[in-house]
Amino acid sequence: MRAFLEFLGIANELDADVAFLGEAFPRISALCGFDRGAFFEARHILKSLLKVDRTGRRFLLETDAGKPRYRICPRCALEQSTPYLAFHCRFSAWRFCPEHQCMLEEACWSCGAAIRLPANLAGAGPMQGKCAYLSQCTGCGRSHTKASVVFLDAATSVITPFERMQLENGRATLAALLAKRVELHGDRRKPLSYLRQIERMGLLGTKTRAPTADLLRDRQAARDAALPSPVERARLPPLASSVGHGVRSGVFRDEHP
Ligand SMILES: [Zn+2]
Ligand SMILES: [Zn+2]
Repeated sequence: MRAFLEFLGIANELDADVAFLGEAFPRISALCGFDRGAFFEARHILKSLLKVDRTGRRFLLETDAGKPRYRICPRCALEQSTPYLAFHCRFSAWRFCPEHQCMLEEACWSCGAAIRLPANLAGAGPMQGKCAYLSQCTGCGRSHTKASVVFLDAATSVITPFERMQLENGRATLAALLAKRVELHGDRRKPLSYLRQIERMGLLGTKTRAPTADLLRDRQAARDAALPSPVERARLPPLASSVGHGVRSGVFRDEHP
């Protein structure tokens, strides 16, 4: 990996994603012979991000050692012919996959290792050379696609309205960075710099406790353990959803509960 980053001329940069998609990109695209228009949305989002977060460290996930860390959608990983770790899954506010309506996994479901780019793919995994794809854990080699998926529909009763807002606001964060403006619930618009304020208010759950796949799995297990037997359940009226809908994608909600 080090040799590859040296080849790209970004070996000494703190964050490989930021370096690759940033100012070095035109040179790298010429060096590697790919289209200068490639990764347009990711580069656009990064450019906007660096205007509100100079180093990206407030909004982007990293390991304790300061290396890029990702979340992953088990279903997206399953569908990709060549699995990859998506840049948007590095945003700490981006917690669920809108495509599959499921929570992203924070770490390996089997060994708990952080999801990150391997320093050496051929030598990663429990048996060196057995980790062939980025959909595999670099620690134990097991596939992230085998995680027990937390679908939002099934988890509705264990997500609070405030947490639901944090989840939706994560999606709105990427939409705001792409559109270069913040759109709030009720057709209110703010400049992109307002994103900093939303983040500091805890509405994105970046530095505060926010729902994770593991947390919701625990809550679902506790809920299911407390459920009445099927015979008792048949006598009960249907449960009402505890979460209101009507949040349009890409629009922030900033009401406190
Ligand atoms: Zn997905
Ligand atoms: Zn693992």
